[in-house]
Amino acid sequence: MWSRRRFLVTAAGAAAVARSLPAVAQARRYDLIVRGGRVVDPSARLDAVRDVAISGGRIAAVERSISSDAADTIDARGKLVVPGLLDIHTHVARSAEGPSLVLQDGVTGWIDAGTQGADHIADTIAIARSSPQPGRVLINIGRAGLLPEGDTMDLARADVAAARQAIAQHRDFIVGVKARLSRDVAGANDFEVLRRAQEVASSFGLPVMIHMGQTISPLSRLLDLLKRGDVVTHMFAPPPNSIVDDSGRILPAVLAARQRGVWFDVGNGQTGHIRWDTVDAIMKAHFWPDTFSTDWNTNSRQTGVIDLPNCMSKLLSYGMSVPQAIAAVTTTAARVFPVFGDRGTMKAGAAADVAVLELRQGNFEFLDNFKGTITGRQRFFPIATVLAGKRISRS
Ligand SMILES: [Zn+2]
Repeated sequence: MWSRRRFLVTAAGAAAVARSLPAVAQARRYDLIVRGGRVVDPSARLDAVRDVAISGGRIAAVERSISSDAADTIDARGKLVVPGLLDIHTHVARSAEGPSLVLQDGVTGWIDAGTQGADHIADTIAIARSSPQPGRVLINIGRAGLLPEGDTMDLARADVAAARQAIAQHRDFIVGVKARLSRDVAGANDFEVLRRAQEVASSFGLPVMIHMGQTISPLSRLLDLLKRGDVVTHMFAPPPNSIVDDSGRILPAVLAARQRGVWFDVGNGQTGHIRWDTVDAIMKAHFWPDTFSTDWNTNSRQTGVIDLPNCMSKLLSYGMSVPQAIAAVTTTAARVFPVFGDRGTMKAGAAADVAVLELRQGNFEFLDNFKGTITGRQRFFPIATVLAGKRISRS
């Protein structure tokens, strides 16, 4: 009993000391508290109402109720509070305002997937360097980057030496190689373009991201060139050379690729990459995407992309749960690109990148790339973004 009494005496003494401190010494304990939201953090298997306290740019605590004071507060009641979103296929670095535009959508990390090749890679790297959130680039194996007439229709543009030199110069910002393989981009060169992309990437231990769909070579032949850690984007591309056959079976080469650690990504985009009947067949075969991405550019607001939360919403109608959709753009995306290795989580100590989303119920029309629509009952809307512990103002 004496120990309890002594504890009480000590506690009372401490309270008296606290009361006598001058006001200036009673600093606010946290920089920011996001209060009362439904916190979905797949890295911690957490889906519950929580307060999130942030200090010094890091997550300080995630608890049922945090009574301490903070310099800033976000009232997230009725909203989702999730780790900052990671978009692994964008063209954010095509424009100076790209990074700040997607930041408002909740995107706190982005990959520019092949906007530029060796000739002008410095342009995209300059944008990545000045981006408020982490941004990195995949170098297009076509040395002139995206070309209306097709990046590698002229095979000489798939220049191994030029790409290698560019990577060696910008090892800190180039995190992989992009090979766009569609008929209107690479023509009959698709296989050789991919072989060269792999030759470049392998020598630096980097992944290749392939843009699949409507290729001249059979998809299985192309997939054979992919190694563990590589990424297949535009996985919902309709035939010819879709990942699913006419009878609704996923190709054996696709299953084998996933088995050996190749990632499958959505890459929504605006032309030729997603068609609802193909989505339906692939989702029914239970071959679900590892990651969602937008293939974002400055027109995305006006196309069926809109923003990453909208692209994430599309598969809720096909049975994906909210935590599964969040995991695809947080924990999984962070595994695909190790540059995001300490992101995609809200565990204490992690970088305080947070997206506040609203999951609205209603009737929402979602567009594919062929003017086809489906109606979904739920859609994520971006509400607020916190980057490195600071609330981003929305314009
Ligand atoms: Zn793209």
